[in-house]
Amino acid sequence: MPTPLPVPSRKSPLASLVQWIDGDYPPRPFEESRAEPDRVDWIRTIPFIFLHAGCLGILWVGWSWTAVGVAAALYFVRMFAITGFYHRYFSHRTFRTGRVRQFLFAFLGATSAQRGPLWWAYQHRHHHRHADEPEDAHSPVCHGFLWSHIGWITSRRNFPTDYRSVRDLARYPELVFLNRFDIIAPVTLALVLLAAGAGLNHLAPQLGTTGPQLVVWGFFISTTVLFHATSSINSLAHLIGRRRYETEDDSRNSFLLSIITLGEGWHNNHHRFMSCTRQGFYWWEIDITYYLLRMLEKLGVISDLRPVPAAAYRACPPDEAGAGENREAGRGSAPEIRPGGSAP
Ligand SMILES: [Zn+2]
Ligand SMILES: [Zn+2]
Repeated sequence: MPTPLPVPSRKSPLASLVQWIDGDYPPRPFEESRAEPDRVDWIRTIPFIFLHAGCLGILWVGWSWTAVGVAAALYFVRMFAITGFYHRYFSHRTFRTGRVRQFLFAFLGATSAQRGPLWWAYQHRHHHRHADEPEDAHSPVCHGFLWSHIGWITSRRNFPTDYRSVRDLARYPELVFLNRFDIIAPVTLALVLLAAGAGLNHLAPQLGTTGPQLVVWGFFISTTVLFHATSSINSLAHLIGRRRYETEDDSRNSFLLSIITLGEGWHNNHHRFMSCTRQGFYWWEIDITYYLLRMLEKLGVISDLRPVPAAAYRACPPDEAGAGENREAGRGSAPEIRPGGSAP
């Protein structure tokens, strides 16, 4: 009888290399990785470093209005996929949609190179359960700004997906496949941009763009900026801004972060009332993701958006909301729902 091939340790450099492609390699108990102390896995992190380094390509490819426009459009569309779907749909299940549609938006979100939808949802649910406690992987209060912004995503113990905490999503094999081989999405986007740039160079040379130029702007620059904007919710949204609700964490509301992230900056609202689709509770709390989701609802693409609970307004009536500070009586009000629990 042949001896089975030994499974390499998750810590081996070979395993880190294979994990560039297969995020679930090698199959090991989840607790084994989580039990490790935080340590940067440099080999596993090379693609992430490469993403940043790729921005320097601008020195070779230059710029054009077409390339800048594509970068901005891809930032906008993918930020919406992250906030509307990775966050408000997969992590919190605040509305419903069909199976094919959820996969398409998951794929679009995955082109942001923020790993797969199940990993993202697991990490985010974990964040809500342990917000600003030592167990929270990206709390700036407990681990400092730099770690909460970028360090945690490079730590070996944070790479695996805890499929038990996303059982509702792990029922769909196509989502599990995308989560495991998430690199397919950003590579596909880069190749499409390369082909589109080459095509435009050939068909419309007056636009002044090329394949490599569209890759540098549309993929490397757009994706890097998108990463840091998204990450600012992990770091800055727990440090700057105002606290309307006395939550057990340090989440804050920030107009500036809401503009950058299409509505995610109303983070204190969200930590207190995380089951509703809308995060900006008043008309002046601009929440572009919510407006776009309402549009998709009207078009029949999604349905059953969860409304802001009346308790949110009772705790902070409109005439007082502008003042913003600590309207809710008592310290440490519990959030009204736990993500990934019995709800949706
Ligand atoms: Zn959330
Ligand atoms: Zn938070």
